[in-house]
Amino acid sequence: MSDYSAPLADIRFVLDNVVDLAGLTELAPYAELDPATILGVLEENARFVEQVIAPLNQVGDTQHSQWDAGAVRTPDGFPDAYKRYVEGGWGGVPFPEVYGGGGFPWLVGIVLQEILTSANLSFSLAPLLTQGAIDMLLHHGSEEQQERYLPKMVTGEWSGTMNLTEPQAGSEVGALTTKAVPADDGTWRISGQKIFITYGEHDMADNIIHLVLARVPDAPPGTKGISCFIVPKFLLTDDGSLGARNAAECVSIEHKMGIHASPTCVMSYDGAVGYLIGEANQGMRYMFTMMNNARLSVGLQGLGLGERAYQRAVAYAHERRQGRAPGAAPGEQSLIVDLPDVRRMLLTMRALNEAMRALLYLNAECLDLANHHPDEAVRTQRAELADLLTPISKGWSTDMGVEVTSLAIQVFGGMGFIEETGVAQYYRDARIAPIYEGTNGIQAMDLVGRKLPLRGGGVITDFLAGIEATAAEVSKGGDAFGPIGPRLTEAHRTFAEATQWLMANGLADPTNALAGATPYLRMAGIVTGGWLLARSALAARARLDEGGGDRELLEQKIVTARFYCDQLLPQAAGLLPAITAGPADLNAAVL
Ligand SMILES: Cc1cc2nc3c(=O)[nH]c(=O)nc-3n(C[C@H](O)[C@H](O)[C@H](O)COP(=O)(O)OP(=O)(O)OC[C@H]3O[C@@H](n4cnc5c(N)ncnc54)[C@H](O)[C@@H]3O)c2cc1C
Repeated sequence: MSDYSAPLADIRFVLDNVVDLAGLTELAPYAELDPATILGVLEENARFVEQVIAPLNQVGDTQHSQWDAGAVRTPDGFPDAYKRYVEGGWGGVPFPEVYGGGGFPWLVGIVLQEILTSANLSFSLAPLLTQGAIDMLLHHGSEEQQERYLPKMVTGEWSGTMNLTEPQAGSEVGALTTKAVPADDGTWRISGQKIFITYGEHDMADNIIHLVLARVPDAPPGTKGISCFIVPKFLLTDDGSLGARNAAECVSIEHKMGIHASPTCVMSYDGAVGYLIGEANQGMRYMFTMMNNARLSVGLQGLGLGERAYQRAVAYAHERRQGRAPGAAPGEQSLIVDLPDVRRMLLTMRALNEAMRALLYLNAECLDLANHHPDEAVRTQRAELADLLTPISKGWSTDMGVEVTSLAIQVFGGMGFIEETGVAQYYRDARIAPIYEGTNGIQAMDLVGRKLPLRGGGVITDFLAGIEATAAEVSKGGDAFGPIGPRLTEAHRTFAEATQWLMANGLADPTNALAGATPYLRMAGIVTGGWLLARSALAARARLDEGGGDRELLEQKIVTARFYCDQLLPQAAGLLPAITAGPADLNAAVL
């Protein structure tokens, strides 16, 4: 039986009140959808994932994937569960119908991803990497490549990988040396070694479509000389069926701290047949077009694990008796859920999860509107906001995933440190998300170096104005919102000051901006979370005043927002000195 239950009521609240699901279904590509149909799909998916995928989470952690002479065996139950995932059509939900997808908004795909990630992060990585590869082919593949590969990738019968990393080329992708030489027939021969390739080999899909970054002869150095190739595990015959085995081999898999069931492969390409995507030397530009989607999905892993950890911690706190809660009868052992410090931990977890969900769904909605809104001005504005939010979604949410899963261990006490309970797994699994898909240090540099200067600083200025407007609105709401208004007003001031300092001093000397980037990203996350929970509180109050909805849920929304804004949001101000200190002490330290 599963110990995870998809938080559909909270998901629905965010879809209706923080973003506008109904509005999305009015866009031309989604005209045949309506919110009720979408919610029905979410419910069906939740049932499947809770019953079939979630129970395999701990099995995967203890069994690990196993390498055997080039083949990789995933843990018991994984191939069968994947088959059922494919039969259900779940991987194709947000992709175009012409390739067999469901034609749903990306936002809906993101909700499905949250549920799958909570259930089983290791399992979810196979569809996630496939989705990244689909995205690349949809944007940059030729028509012929799309027709040959996409239908089976959209169903999930074939999975996908992304091959960037090499031993000397991690964050610095431009240092990669894998080679591509042209063959007489218009194809290419790929040779080199890639490391850390997620699901580079496995036994769940019939074929694996590797997307490999490599250098063609005479390519310029660095990122300007990278090209992207399709390298299938099995080559396709003319009629599209599986043909000869390609010279792409998994030579070993890594032993890791977490996500044990996800095979992290060393891949060797030895003159493998490859097909160029788009033009040579444009690979990095192509990677950038899919980066927002991929980074949002990794940000979601912080939420997914945080949610599951929270559910387990609350359940445990309702079972475990220890100590005496204020007001309890002498000699009676209280449930730990009644102890103030445990309540603080649980509410911190819940508040961070809800803030992450609001941020990530807003980011996903921006991607849909940027692609499909009929008004060009709205498309531009939403694309800019998605650009700004993406490093915050990835960096802050994955850092919070680590914090929330760590708090779950603390709620469990010693039993949290004992592997048997399964809580330690969430923490171990969460630890990879701040590292891959661009480390959080790289996200912070992206935020200050690329995103603050967008439209000459206009994008961040508009964003700050939105926070200020919400602070003013909630301040007018009186006692119902308690400290939300003044705290958000103060946080906005601090965020604006930090932003102005970085823009002024970062321009004068970029090292100033680089030195303060990580605390700035954290401040941006904390304040954005407070802003969105304040908006949630306003929406909940309005629903309560209308007399509609689930009263307890709506009242709890306001409680959570009050707690976050009063007790977590003030942490933002404490980051200001680190953001504005500059590099002097960092440089002076002997390390
Ligand atoms: C489990 C797992 C799965 C993975 N899956 C894939 C995959 O499917 N495909 C793939 O291609 N790769 C994959 N990776 C690789 C992953 O993306 C890299 O590990 C990541 O990009 C970091 O590179 P690195 O490990 O070389 O660290 P490094 O780049 O060596 O970084 C070390 C430290 O230096 C910092 N740093 C580096 N450069 C800078 C800079 N310019 N400025 C400031 N700080 C900097 C980093 O933030 C980090 O703190 C995976 C890795 C793991 C562990």
